[in-house]
Amino acid sequence: MTNLFNLDGKIALVTGARTGIGRGIAEGLAEAGCNVVGAGHAEMPETKQYIESLGRKFLYYDIDMSKQDKIQDLVDTTVKTFGRLDILVNNAGIIRREDVLEFSEKNWDDVINTNQKSLFFLSQAAARVMKAQGGGKIINIASMLSFQGGIRVVSYTASKSAVAGITKLMANELAKYNIQVNAIAPGYIATNNTDALIKDPKRSVEILSRIPADRWGTPEDLKGAAVFLASQASNYVNGHILAVDGGWLAR
Ligand code: NAP
Repeated sequence: MTNLFNLDGKIALVTGARTGIGRGIAEGLAEAGCNVVGAGHAEMPETKQYIESLGRKFLYYDIDMSKQDKIQDLVDTTVKTFGRLDILVNNAGIIRREDVLEFSEKNWDDVINTNQKSLFFLSQAAARVMKAQGGGKIINIASMLSFQGGIRVVSYTASKSAVAGITKLMANELAKYNIQVNAIAPGYIATNNTDALIKDPKRSVEILSRIPADRWGTPEDLKGAAVFLASQASNYVNGHILAVDGGWLAR
């Protein structure tokens, strides 16, 4: 069984690997054997140091994921450096909180560009490489708001609902090339993204009271799902959105 999850020598590209869930997943994939390209808009020395301490290789690629102009170069640089691209984790994402009656066009465009448009075009560029290679894995980071409405985060809900749809569509079209496209829907994970909620005494109590596991998640909680969806253990899993939520959706 152990071999099913072995990722020795695989090349993984993880966006937003500096902090939070992306860092946890990048480190988990390296623990399973991957060399990693970490793409983001600020250096990620802690991620790099940890991955290199495991004897794996790490490459930082500087990119603003709210724009699409460097996406092809990111994929080309990955292939030029490591020779291939086996696993793409579309993790970089932002959230903007504002009442729906006030919600600004900027808060709409910034979130949709980063969470949805760049996710699609990076997946497309990666899938072209994976098709030529004979296969690959794309893992999108969805959300509870791929299933639910949420409050005060309309562009985020729109983008994460789109991530669920894009995941299923790409799974349908790419399965024949041995490319599996799936998503992880994290529940409430303690990161920069949820800092405002954790600090809000009313919302943090409301949220915690609905989590059967009785605790907020941590980035480490996502490692197992990511390794599963990146490995041959999931070769017949297509278009699935795997909730890692301490039971939130079951409540
Ligand atoms: P986070 O720590 O804020 O991580 C977001 C990552 O995306 C950071 O590394 C950030 O880089 C990067 N990023 C943001 N904008 C970028 C841009 N324009 N260009 C390049 N990189 C950019 O929060 P997180 O919770 O780990 O979020 C990671 C993903 O999980 C997001 O897609 C989020 O929507 C999703 N998610 C989170 C939760 C949760 O409860 N935390 C639940 C469901 C889904 P910098 O830090 O350098 O800005």
